[in-house]
Amino acid sequence: TGLATAAPEGSARPGGVAILDLGSVEQAAPAASFDDKRVLVMRDGDRWKAVVGIPLDTEPGSLTVSVGGDKVTVPIIEHAYAEQRLTVKNQSHVTPDQAQLDRIGSERKIIDAALNNFRQVPVETISLAAPVDGPRGSSFGKRRFFNDQPRAPHKGMDIAAAEGVPITAPLEGIVTATGDYFFNGNTVIIDHGQGYVTMYCHLSEIAVEKDQQVTAGEAIGAVGATGRVTGPHLHFGTYLNGTAVDPAILLEQ
Ligand code: ZN
Repeated sequence: TGLATAAPEGSARPGGVAILDLGSVEQAAPAASFDDKRVLVMRDGDRWKAVVGIPLDTEPGSLTVSVGGDKVTVPIIEHAYAEQRLTVKNQSHVTPDQAQLDRIGSERKIIDAALNNFRQVPVETISLAAPVDGPRGSSFGKRRFFNDQPRAPHKGMDIAAAEGVPITAPLEGIVTATGDYFFNGNTVIIDHGQGYVTMYCHLSEIAVEKDQQVTAGEAIGAVGATGRVTGPHLHFGTYLNGTAVDPAILLEQ
């Protein structure tokens, strides 16, 4: 099946994905949770597997996942993320004023709700088709400085593409949020089930609406340069159990 290739050996690192074997599908699927958040459980051949998103700030060593009533320890591999220094022209994207901070706060609630949504439906694959063709950046997890100011680490993959190039859904799902957000610009968030969520930022235009069902390959918008950017590209985010994980692990090669 696609699970082994979608989350290869060595993916259990901060910002990565851990796969846990939960037993035979002859038993009912056990519920799994991590950090009080439900975890995706899917069928992989004749086994149930948990697909756990590992937070970027996890210390190497291990983390504990609850499976049914049991605690399961998952080893976490060390991974050092580099720094990234960026220059943005609009200084208010680095040091927002109070009105902008208020706007950012209310947008954060909408975005967090969409990223943490858990919809109990079967998930058949976690493997994602490319949402846009183009060179894939490797800056996921890098600690960022905007105009020399330290900011949150980069929680997605930047795919280089020209303004206006169509973006397509990499897997079926339901659109849970769209909007023009301060940092992310025009944004679409898609829920693929059981906390598996993808996010598309800096779009020039949005082609879908909230609550719309999308199929794999359907157009959801176009590449742009809205929000806090240095130029046109797609910021592509992938989330499991509310935590950002490296899209490179989940994207088909
Ligand atoms: Zn980005």
